[in-house]
Amino acid sequence: MQPLLSIETVSKHFAAHQALRDVELMVGAGEFIALLGPSGCGKTTLLRCIAGFLTPDAGRIRIDGEDITRAPPYRRPLNTVFQSYALFPHMSVLDNVAYGPRRAGVARAEAQGRAREALALVGLEEMGARLPRALSGGQQQRVALARAIVNRPKLLLLDEPLSALDLKLRRRMQIELKHIQEKLGIAFIFVTHDQEEAMAMADRIVVMHGGRVEQVGTPAEIYRAPASRFVAEFVGEPNLIPAEPAGPGRIRLAFAGLELAAPEGTRCAMIRPEDVVLVEGAAPADLATAGGTVEEVVAIGPMTTLFVRCGDVLLKVARLGMSGAELHPGAGVTVGLRPAALHLIAE
Ligand code: ATP
Repeated sequence: MQPLLSIETVSKHFAAHQALRDVELMVGAGEFIALLGPSGCGKTTLLRCIAGFLTPDAGRIRIDGEDITRAPPYRRPLNTVFQSYALFPHMSVLDNVAYGPRRAGVARAEAQGRAREALALVGLEEMGARLPRALSGGQQQRVALARAIVNRPKLLLLDEPLSALDLKLRRRMQIELKHIQEKLGIAFIFVTHDQEEAMAMADRIVVMHGGRVEQVGTPAEIYRAPASRFVAEFVGEPNLIPAEPAGPGRIRLAFAGLELAAPEGTRCAMIRPEDVVLVEGAAPADLATAGGTVEEVVAIGPMTTLFVRCGDVLLKVARLGMSGAELHPGAGVTVGLRPAALHLIAE
């Protein structure tokens, strides 16, 4: 099936600095994609190339197969929601939303009808007569969204649209935005540097690093099977256990001398803190175990993290609720790993 958007070996320089390097990405109709990565990794540059505010130095961008690499922004079947909502302060909410269709030459009554529909989609049908300043931050954000979807683009680009909101509202808006996107069926490309936000909302996450796409995958793939050490460390909290070669096709981990079959070049094994077991009593046969010493206990209510030193490795062990919170630094414990929960990483 033809993708809605295809980005083919796109590169972009700013003078000597290469902001994008051979970026490849296919986006399907109605997909929710998160562009995730640290500051400066090229997320906004890629979004601007898709929107048409920047032109790549090399590569192609197609929508529905049509080459739009050099098309001006207004000729692209997409719209952008920016960090600052940029609403017109002296216009009513309804007029703000109707502004786009009006400028495109749609008659006033028709434009207002479409604006009402868009406002209903974001749950603000009652607010049309208000001025933007009479709305909360979250409501203003939804007006900006209504304005961006009023012309029913095929693709909506969102550049950190929730970053001005406080944490609680932000979490609520993440869920709402996801529901609105599902209802609309419009593909979203959402820029964020917040891994939880990406995990909570996206069908697929594109992890970027130094202008390159480091990995593309579902949230579960990215979390469980990161393609590199960088992805493992950027998404969630990994335990990275160093490995050394132990004969052809085998490695030995710096934990209980555990030996595993592994591809050439494997440098370490990753295990998430919630998969590390604190063994009480006899250990099940499928666990590799080692004795350790608790160095730190961090109990935050829903979760307790223990930092346990096992030889050269400091392991993070996550437990639900306050389980383990009674342990003190210096306590001796037995830690267990299931080889099946380990993910091998080459670089
Ligand atoms: P952030 O999360 O901080 O917004 P980002 O991943 O969106 O970061 P970009 O804005 O895409 O990063 O920038 C990528 C790199 O390109 C950065 O090193 C940035 O300084 C540089 N850059 C971006 N725009 C320009 C420009 N107009 N001129 C020169 N350099 C630029």
